Amino acid sequence: MNPTGVVVLGATGSIGRSTLAVIRRHPGRFRVVGLTAGCRALELERLAREFDPEFVVLAGEGPGPKEWAGAWQTGEEALVAAAASDGADIVVNGLVGFAGLRSTIATLEAGKRLALANKESLVVGGELVLAALRTGGGELIPVDSEHSAIFQCLQDRPREEVARILITASGGPFRALPEARFHEIRPQDALAHPTWTMGDKITVDSATLANKALEVMEAHLLFGVPYESMDVVVHPESIIHSMVEFRDGSTIAQLGYPTMEVPILYALSHPERLESQFKSLDLVATGSLTFERLRVEAFPLFTLGVEAGKEGGTMPAVYSAANEVAVQAFLDGEIGFTDMAGVVEAAMVRTPTGDLSTLEDVVTADASAREAARMRVDG
Ligand code: NAD
Ligand code: MG
Repeated sequence: MNPTGVVVLGATGSIGRSTLAVIRRHPGRFRVVGLTAGCRALELERLAREFDPEFVVLAGEGPGPKEWAGAWQTGEEALVAAAASDGADIVVNGLVGFAGLRSTIATLEAGKRLALANKESLVVGGELVLAALRTGGGELIPVDSEHSAIFQCLQDRPREEVARILITASGGPFRALPEARFHEIRPQDALAHPTWTMGDKITVDSATLANKALEVMEAHLLFGVPYESMDVVVHPESIIHSMVEFRDGSTIAQLGYPTMEVPILYALSHPERLESQFKSLDLVATGSLTFERLRVEAFPLFTLGVEAGKEGGTMPAVYSAANEVAVQAFLDGEIGFTDMAGVVEAAMVRTPTGDLSTLEDVVTADASAREAARMRVDG
C-alpha cells in the first residue's frame, strides 16, 4: 500500500508538531506532502529538510529557505491551494481562528479527508462548511479530543438513537478559583493549563471556557445534535474525553490519558486503529474520576458562545472574531481577564448579523465584529 499523503497546515504549532510526531512513528503508512506555517521560517525549513515534502508554504512574510532546495511558496493564496494539492489524501488543519476557514472549505471542496483541529473555521463557516462537505464528497474527521471521542462513541448510529451528548471539560486553571479573585488573573496564569499543553489562543479560551462554547457549537455542526440535547460536565482528570447517551439508556464513553496524538492518529487512520506508544490506562493508579457542575455564572464567555450558536447565521462568526480580538488584547496586556467577555458581548450587540449564505457574509461579519471589539478594547 502506498503511504497516505498528508498536508499539515500550521506545522510549527502544537497540533502541527503532534501530527508530525505521529507521522514520524508511522513512516510506511503516512508521507508528508506539504507543510505550512504562519511565521517561524527557520523552523519550517528544518521540518522541510526532515520530511522532504513536495512543497512548503510560509503564509506570512519571512526569509526564503537557505538549505532546502524544494518548492517554497509564500502568501495566503498558496496556503489555501495547499489544501487542494494533488498528492494530498488528508489535510490536517492546525491553523488558529478565522485564518483557517478558506483552507477548511478548500479541503472539503477538493473531496479530501479533513482532519479538523481548527474548530473556529467550522464554527464561523457553519452551513458553508457542511455544504462543501456534501458537494465535494470529502470527509470531516474531528481532531478535537472531545469530538474525536463523540465520533468514536457514535459509531455511525442514526441520530434518532442519540438521546444526549455529554461533553467533558477540564474546567481550566480557574475551575476552583473564587470569582472575586478573577481580576487578579494575569496572562501567565491563564497560559498555565492543568492538563493540556497547547497554543496560546486555545489555552486562554480554555481558561475563559470560550473553548467549551466553541466545542458545543462544533459538536452541534458535526453531529447534527440540537443544543438542548448537549450538556457540559466538568471532569478535572481529563480521562473521559466525552460521552454519548443513547435512547436505550446506555452511555458510551471514550477514555485515555490526555494527549492529542491519539485523536490525531485516529483522524489519520480511521476506521483502522494503528499501534501507538502510549502506556495503557491504569485506572487504579488514577484512583477516581470526578465530575462537577460547570460554574456558568463565573464564565460568561461560555454562555455568550452558546447563545451565539443557538442564534446561528453570522452570530457565531461575530462571537469567534470578537473573542480572537479579546484574547489578543488580554495577552498584550491591554485588558484584564474579566474584560474579555465585555468585549465579546459589545461586539455581539453592535455588529449587524443575518443569514449565512456566502463566504462574503462570514468575511463581512468577521471584519465588523473585529472593529466593534477593537473599539471596546480602545474604550
Ligand atoms: P498554535 O498557535 O500552537 O499553532 C498554530 C499554527 O498555525 C502555527 O503553525 C502558526 O504558524 C500557524 N498560523 C497561525 N496563524 C496563521 C495565519 N494567519 N496564517 C497561516 N498560518 C497561521 O495553535 P494550536 O494549539 O496548535 O491550535 C491549532 C488549532 O487546533 C486551534 O483552532 C485550536 O483551537 C485547535 N485545537 C488545538 C488543540 C491543542 O492541543 N493544541 C486541541 C484541540 C483543538
Ligand atoms: Mg477540545
